[in-house]
Amino acid sequence: QTEIPQTNTHTKRLTHLPPLLPPLLSSLTQTSPPPFFQSSQNKPITAAMPEAPKPTQTSNGLTTIAIAEKNKRTLQFIEDVTSNPDDVQTQVLHEILSRNSAVEYLHHRHRLHGATDRRTFKKLLPVISYEDIHPDITRIANGDTSPILCSSPISEFLTSSGTSAGERKLMPTIAEEMERRSLLYSLLMPVMSQFVPGLEKGKGMYFLFIKSESKTPGGLPARPVLTSYYKSSHFKNRPFDPYTNYTSPNETILCPDSYQSMYSQLLCGLCQRTQVLRVGAVFASGFIRAIRFLEKHWQLLCRDIRSGTLDPTVITDPAVREAVLTKVLHRPDPELADFVESECRKDSWQGIITRLWPNTKYVDVIVTGTMSQYIPTLDFYSNGLPLVCTMYASSECYFGVNLNPLCKPSEVAYTLIPTMAYFEFLPVHPMPKSLNEKERQELVDLADVKLGHEYELVVTTYAGLYRYRVGDVLRVAGFKNRAPQFNFICRKNVVLSIDSDKTDEVELQGAVKNAVDAHLVAFGGSVAEYTSYADTKTTIPGHYVLYWELSVKGTTAIPPSVYEDCCLTVEESLNSVYRQGRVSDKSIGPLEIKIVEQGTFDKLMDYAISLGASINQYKTPRCVKFEPIVELLNSRVEGSYFSPKCPKWVPGHKQWSNNVKN
Ligand code: AMP
Repeated sequence: QTEIPQTNTHTKRLTHLPPLLPPLLSSLTQTSPPPFFQSSQNKPITAAMPEAPKPTQTSNGLTTIAIAEKNKRTLQFIEDVTSNPDDVQTQVLHEILSRNSAVEYLHHRHRLHGATDRRTFKKLLPVISYEDIHPDITRIANGDTSPILCSSPISEFLTSSGTSAGERKLMPTIAEEMERRSLLYSLLMPVMSQFVPGLEKGKGMYFLFIKSESKTPGGLPARPVLTSYYKSSHFKNRPFDPYTNYTSPNETILCPDSYQSMYSQLLCGLCQRTQVLRVGAVFASGFIRAIRFLEKHWQLLCRDIRSGTLDPTVITDPAVREAVLTKVLHRPDPELADFVESECRKDSWQGIITRLWPNTKYVDVIVTGTMSQYIPTLDFYSNGLPLVCTMYASSECYFGVNLNPLCKPSEVAYTLIPTMAYFEFLPVHPMPKSLNEKERQELVDLADVKLGHEYELVVTTYAGLYRYRVGDVLRVAGFKNRAPQFNFICRKNVVLSIDSDKTDEVELQGAVKNAVDAHLVAFGGSVAEYTSYADTKTTIPGHYVLYWELSVKGTTAIPPSVYEDCCLTVEESLNSVYRQGRVSDKSIGPLEIKIVEQGTFDKLMDYAISLGASINQYKTPRCVKFEPIVELLNSRVEGSYFSPKCPKWVPGHKQWSNNVKN
């Protein structure tokens, strides 16, 4: 066996890295270019490569001129990296492979032996899914600190909302990835300010939350990427910057109790209502949850605004109390309380956003992918304000930005930023699960994708994922200079999603089977046909609905409690992200089973055939979205049952008996 070279140039270089980089949504304070632009000797790779923008800072923040100048440089950076994406990608791959040349995965397992060129890389490295590196991830989680995937130490695991065997996937990350994420954030506001000027003159009311975290047996933190970000000094200690000036004090975002966090963020948003120029949350579901919270709790909020105090039984977290009372809720404000009350008391909540926050220019939430189901509700609450999807990202890697943020949600296209990772694209057409060498070579590079074609995204990251299938399907919608822009089409295999949960057909099938075996069989019952629906219209938060057509051989009538038990067993069988949404985040409502009349699924087939489906190939869809079909199903419901309680959920992986922190 060839010996692993002992020098770890990357670890050496890291000790020379500049101080941690910019805060959320801005690099106005950035003092140094991101790591991509440095070689392992800390020198620029090529003099011709585009430089990331540097800041101009005044003693008391940034002048308008400085902001404009900084925005200009950021936009120039985007011009530069999109003008020659192929060169940038070559450099990125070179850098990732050279710094990680000695790691076990590249050197021993796939015998790359120091090669950094695309041809050798594509020839030797397999295209993989999470399951392929699961054993490596488990080793790292259990405390193996040898360079398995990456030469830099794994700093933590980011827990993806994508699951494997019912548990969140664990994505290894390294400290410097935080800088790359910050870089992507820093592009957003300069882009936005081209379309909506003056945003630096007010605040953003963003509902941001942390989630509970745990430790792997080896002691690494395991938490969602945004929790990691909000708890980092990048976010907490960000210098003043008009683009990261939020109505929510950090303490309210970092409050581990989701009720107190939401309450205090809404209170602060209401108190600063006239300063608010934009509102948002990460995903549409989160923003709607905040409005729903307001609907339920406006009386309590108004009482605190009126008295200028915080109800000690509601807000018990000392850090939140102190931050809200010293930074926002300075005095009793009966006038504001009266106003909020009068608006919230009105029968219709249509346009509540523009009524309470009259200077709002847009709603900043992701409404692409499964989140598009929330567009009508957002339109209703915001009276049709622009819905802005600014970025596309994941726990594996942050990908890209929307350069035309005021476009319609259906037209959103994300430009992948070529410095973030090495991107490849698997054409979406039937392909065998494990790809042979020729097929591996068929993956298309960023600069070679074709307009209108659909691809599955494959990434190679600085943190040690090589040719990793993210699971998202994208369609090329156009180009920015020579860099492609992509519509987000779907996440592969996902049938149901309300919040960040992603339930696939196999999981759903298993859950239904568990419920039937546990509860219906005893009554001679079975499910002849079923389908499902993510209902975000009749309840907030939304909930899963299963339509069951039964075949019953027994003579005893099935009591309602049995169906309720079925609901709960289905929930218990779903993945931990779903159960966390039910238990901890309260972002998903109780699952419902609707029993439909005999013959309903025949009617469904007739309907599909009348719309052009082939009789021979017809299969019952395991999830329905098309309104007329949902109506057809609903018109034949004989009984409806809800899960009587929350399923079980504990933070961390089920096999870790871990210490859980908030
Ligand atoms: P996670 O790994 O839990 O952070 O989830 C990342 C996934 O969320 C991505 O792979 C996408 O499937 C989805 N996602 C992230 N950003 C967007 C977006 N802008 N539009 C649609 N889906 C998105």
